[in-house]
Amino acid sequence: MKTQSSIVVKKFGGTSVGSIARIENVASRIKEDVENGQSPVVVSSAMSGETNRLIGLAGEIDSKYRGEAYDMLLASGEQVSISLLAIALEKRGLKAEPLLAYQLGIKTDSIFSKARILSVDHEKIKQIISEGKIPIVAGFQGINQTSKITTLGRGGSDTTAVAIAAAIKADSCEIYTDVPAVFSADPRLVKKAREIPTLRYDEMMEMASLGSKVLHFRCVELAAKYKIKIHLRSTFEKREGTFIVPEEEAMENPVVSAVTHEALTAVIKLFPVPKGSGFLADLFGKLSEASVVVDIITQSHNEEGQRLAFSLPMSDLELARDVISKAYGDKVSITVMEDKAKISIVGVGMRNYSGVAYRFFNVLSKNNIDIDLVTTSDIKVSAIIDKESLSDAANQLHTEFGLDAT
Ligand code: ASP
Ligand code: MG
Repeated sequence: MKTQSSIVVKKFGGTSVGSIARIENVASRIKEDVENGQSPVVVSSAMSGETNRLIGLAGEIDSKYRGEAYDMLLASGEQVSISLLAIALEKRGLKAEPLLAYQLGIKTDSIFSKARILSVDHEKIKQIISEGKIPIVAGFQGINQTSKITTLGRGGSDTTAVAIAAAIKADSCEIYTDVPAVFSADPRLVKKAREIPTLRYDEMMEMASLGSKVLHFRCVELAAKYKIKIHLRSTFEKREGTFIVPEEEAMENPVVSAVTHEALTAVIKLFPVPKGSGFLADLFGKLSEASVVVDIITQSHNEEGQRLAFSLPMSDLELARDVISKAYGDKVSITVMEDKAKISIVGVGMRNYSGVAYRFFNVLSKNNIDIDLVTTSDIKVSAIIDKESLSDAANQLHTEFGLDAT
């Protein structure tokens, strides 16, 4: 009996298509999947290093330039990889159709370099599949209303893959990368980190925004919205990796699923600041206009006055310092703390257990690690600490919450 073949979106990252040998490897793998009855829709990143190389070229002319030409330049990397992949598939006797965003109709808004996908022409993909061809789609790019090329932000090919999976209601979405799975902590920092078989969307979203670089944040957000199951796995091994699924489909919810960190963090402290929300609105309005990403914010008060502290990525520090000293430098004293790091624990199981924050603080306190700022949600606890304590904090928390590989 012939069953209808399952449509699987397969996204290959830069290292997976980083050389001709690797592109040939990907093509052989796709051929095997076709022989096993799958109907693949392929999405590819640019060859590894290519997007950086293009950014470098633009930078040699004007490192501050952003705009239409920048997106058009960056999008060119994917045109090369999808064409080479199509050639490798044709060599193996398969029919392939490489597609740029404008050919497929991947429509985005007009926020160049950070565009959001608005729609994908599912009819077109379905038609190509029904003609017995494999669509090979350029990741990371789109077109806006006036047919200008846009890009989705670094790492955005993941998001292209999930958007396509949602549009054509694919059976699953596989993200092929150079690591075998999502780990319970960064293995470079925590030797006993282990692979996580299943994660829930909420956890993966927190992890992506807390510093785990495995998946593009928007991709997980979209997957959650349309309930697209993501299978993150290695291009270089056949075994399964991590499944990212709706919460109700997970077998069990451990209290903590992962320890994540962001090493390049800074803290800015301001004192004394005017009471009331007017000042906060003004300050964070100015920072947001300058595209500074602010993370944890705290306020405290004593007899001497009101204090404000917030954390931000090191890469935005100079910009933030400029904005603040220009606007309030004569009235407020500004203290900048560099060499900070953010350490977090994430897990949907936290919702059902008390004492998680206590255990988190207890581990830090037993290791004499001071905390500058703290924030919690129902599925995470994060703290800003000194960077030199990061390794201790990560390893001890990993052990405390039973995550160590045995
Ligand atoms: N090529 C783009 C980048 O390097 C998009 C991607 O790889 O997902 O960011
Ligand atoms: Mg990536």
